[in-house]
Amino acid sequence: MKVPFVDLKSQYISIKEEVNIAINDILENTSYVLGKYVSNFETEFAKIQDVKHCYGVSSGTDGNHSVLWALGIKQGDEVIIPANTFIATAWGATLCGAKPVFVDCHPESYNINPDKVESAITPKTKAIVAVHLYGQPADMDRLREIAGRHKIYLVEDCAQAHISEYKGKKVGGLAAASSFSFYPGKNLGAYGEAGAVCTNDDELAARFKMMRDHGSHEKYKHMIFGHNYRMESIQGAVLGIKLKYIQKWTEQRRNAARLYNEYLGGLESVVLPKEMEYAKHVYHLFILRLRSNEARNKLQAYLTEKGIGTGLHYPIPLHVQPCFEGLGYRKGGMPVTEELAECGISLPMFPNITEEQIAYVCESIKEFSMKN
Ligand SMILES: *Cc1c(COP(=O)(O)O)cnc(C)c1O
Repeated sequence: MKVPFVDLKSQYISIKEEVNIAINDILENTSYVLGKYVSNFETEFAKIQDVKHCYGVSSGTDGNHSVLWALGIKQGDEVIIPANTFIATAWGATLCGAKPVFVDCHPESYNINPDKVESAITPKTKAIVAVHLYGQPADMDRLREIAGRHKIYLVEDCAQAHISEYKGKKVGGLAAASSFSFYPGKNLGAYGEAGAVCTNDDELAARFKMMRDHGSHEKYKHMIFGHNYRMESIQGAVLGIKLKYIQKWTEQRRNAARLYNEYLGGLESVVLPKEMEYAKHVYHLFILRLRSNEARNKLQAYLTEKGIGTGLHYPIPLHVQPCFEGLGYRKGGMPVTEELAECGISLPMFPNITEEQIAYVCESIKEFSMKN
């Protein structure tokens, strides 16, 4: 049996007619950037995320930048970021000229550890970026309390956490502002690059809207600095169609996670991901932890041989990335993140994964455990 790590094709087939009609309409009407498909999507996405304003942008990375840029983060500032995340979280700060300051993750949630945030704050700290990694929200109440006490911004990177919930509330409206990615492999994926920025603050929303369009709300008159971070019409159309299914697809992901937990429960050689009490996890990724780096690498090779796709998220933590060498971090400084990088493995996870496929993956893991 073959089990791919993700399967975008079967999802396309299931919405093919709708998508093709919308794309054809865009081609015929020659309105290729922003336009009604993007603004309709923005309205619907804001509704589903329970946040007042949403603007479509060109990628999640551009969203990360827009959020901090609009809040006035600049050279000389420091921004607190989890060491355990995708690199694009850090680009938000570096593109503003600010310095990323990394914090280790929590051993159960794998998100930024609030206990370790406080000691990373200096007089230069201007913001904390809470990443809801793998689909599970960060501990927002604790982070909000710390940010409030130090009078710094708290923002959300929701790239992996569409419609996930923290204490019954959707992420994306839980802090000053948030960014989303609609990269094809994300839980809500475009057919190209796309992202969004969201906020409940009217003034910030006005800045977001101008910043993505050359700092302008009137053609050739530029009120503030900006960039071309506009969303393409085709991406807005695809996302608008897919949004109707996000609830169903998320439940399918949660069901897949439930099955993994059921089949692998009690297996001593692996640590299953934990859904925190406060969280509704949307399982962008399902991560197992093995006992050692050697065991992880062997398991990955074994599953590859069995026709099972896996991933590593992420094999090199941010604080030890070559590009951040100048910041002076060393291996050993973020033990929880480092252990996850060495011993974690992502199992196949996508809405259409079947119970047979999950059973096969789990049987293969059990076989491996008996032999090793
Ligand atoms: C994917 C991702 C991004 C970047 O999104 P793009 O749309 O690929 O630019 C940012 N942060 C996290 C946590 C991500 O997973």
